[in-house]
Amino acid sequence: MKIKLILALSVFFSLLVIQTLSKAGYCSEWWMLLPIVLGLIVLVWGVVNINSQMFVKTECHFTPEGNEIMLTFDDGPDPVQTPKLLDLLDTYEAKGIFFFIGKKMEAHPEMVKIVSEKGHEIGSHSYSHGYGFDFLSAEKVKNELLQTEKIIKRITGKKTTFFRPPYGITNPNIAKALQFFSYRVLGWNIRSFDTVIQSPEKLEKRVLKRIKPGSIILLHDTASAAPEVLEKILIFMKEKGFSTRLP
Ligand SMILES: [Zn+2]
Repeated sequence: MKIKLILALSVFFSLLVIQTLSKAGYCSEWWMLLPIVLGLIVLVWGVVNINSQMFVKTECHFTPEGNEIMLTFDDGPDPVQTPKLLDLLDTYEAKGIFFFIGKKMEAHPEMVKIVSEKGHEIGSHSYSHGYGFDFLSAEKVKNELLQTEKIIKRITGKKTTFFRPPYGITNPNIAKALQFFSYRVLGWNIRSFDTVIQSPEKLEKRVLKRIKPGSIILLHDTASAAPEVLEKILIFMKEKGFSTRLP
């Protein structure tokens, strides 16, 4: 909220100053476009950057007790990839939080049950995760979240308290919809880009050099390189004495 107020006031006062200067003949009126454009750039940054805190309060790191990190997995459940991730987590005695998509949970309820029974956390990642999610009305976002919450409850018997916005995008409509819930909104501070970068070596390099106590790592159930990268992270953690923590 504070950032939005500072932004609005900065644009407003910049416009006033430029208008005064242009009336006095010191500059052209065209300069008034500058604060408007800069304001829009900051606004877009606030929307696409999950850690901007401009619209929604998000947790993008945590205060660790020792060498702890958090592993998070988005966009599942996936009948092929999620079991691979679960096997690795079992082998290295690690836990993670899975942000599942509602319609995928309907298609693979058995996966959701297994993840929950293994002691991992399940969070909501919307029902549709559609490309137009960020343009939905607050009412539609609220309905998606309600629908997803009910699916998790029906399959696991537990009510989730975690939400991660699709694509990490936050905006006023999503903020308004979230007022209806009491979710903790979880972001990340290490984005693997495993849905973009195909090379496990490049991904491993990118993630490992950023790991420190309190890190929240983002991986995707849907990324083909995710299991390989997860294994490298878990080996690194074992060597360096790190453990996982749930939110
Ligand atoms: Zn996603």
